[in-house]
Amino acid sequence: MGHSVPLPLIRVLATGGTIAGAQTDRERGYRAAAFSVDALIAAVPQLATLAQIEVEQVAAIGSQDMDDATWLRLAARTQAALDSPAVAGVVITHGTDTMEETAFFLNLVVRSEKPVVLVGAMRPATAISADGPMNLYNALAVAAHPATRGRGVLVVANDEIHFAREIAKTNTTQVGTFASGHRGLAGLVNAGRLHLYAPPVRRHTAASEFSPLAAAAAGAQRLPRVDIVYAHAGMGRELIDAAVKAGARGLVIAGMGDGNLGAVALAAAAEAAKAGVAVVRSSRAGGGVVERNIEVDDDALGFIAADELNPQKARVLLLLGLTRTGDPRALQDLFFAY
Ligand code: GLU
Repeated sequence: MGHSVPLPLIRVLATGGTIAGAQTDRERGYRAAAFSVDALIAAVPQLATLAQIEVEQVAAIGSQDMDDATWLRLAARTQAALDSPAVAGVVITHGTDTMEETAFFLNLVVRSEKPVVLVGAMRPATAISADGPMNLYNALAVAAHPATRGRGVLVVANDEIHFAREIAKTNTTQVGTFASGHRGLAGLVNAGRLHLYAPPVRRHTAASEFSPLAAAAAGAQRLPRVDIVYAHAGMGRELIDAAVKAGARGLVIAGMGDGNLGAVALAAAAEAAKAGVAVVRSSRAGGGVVERNIEVDDDALGFIAADELNPQKARVLLLLGLTRTGDPRALQDLFFAY
């Protein structure tokens, strides 16, 4: 018998979500984050064939309760794990509701080439045909594989590997909820076997100017306030005015089509920009690019176009950008770089 090579050490950071959820009755309803990360791992003994695992429970929440303080704590714990020479990669268990926001946040603030893989589930751990165990197995396989280094933060679900920047939750209940729009998947993972596609093209992790998150920021409880306002036919100006009054330093418009607002709301957004609030035009359409100066004169009004980021991801980039600058031109450059 030869010497066996030790398995890579993966640190699993748990935050809650349906992957750790229990049903509350036979047909419907469940409580996220009912199980500890140890219980999740114990339920999949095959994980021991992929990696040595150490676990840390960072939070136990449904991801709809994700907030600044938890993001900052999670970023700090992720960075600490990556900075440990013994750790080969990190897996983060997370609810699917805000998975894309957390993944993109970490993609911008974590400094390492080592893989960081978020994983969740659509069906609670006690459901018929729960998807969590295979997703967790695949996530471990992705985090333990050396070829996934340098690809930024990834999300694994339903046998697919997604880039943090591209992934979006697109369905309320189905296991195939995640999609990666125009630029496509990072790869496939089939029972632990990886098929990786082209690496990401935009800046992330080790090349991000927001990484590593400054110790001061990590110790803070809050990030700059950025609100999202959803546009619709017949929209008034009241919600935009309310966001400004509430102290928003940034405003993301989930605009109609290519980031449009009707004239009344547009005037309110222009006033906000003039008063120094960073206004980013994104789209509620779910795909496509919001370009500058197509139907809205961004140059004249001082707006920022979200490029390819959906509203919730535009919000993440904007709040990080606002830790550095309030200048709309400089903020616009960020939307072309990340
Ligand atoms: N709403 C919960 C969450 O995002 C459960 C949904 C899920 O994990 O799929 O944590």
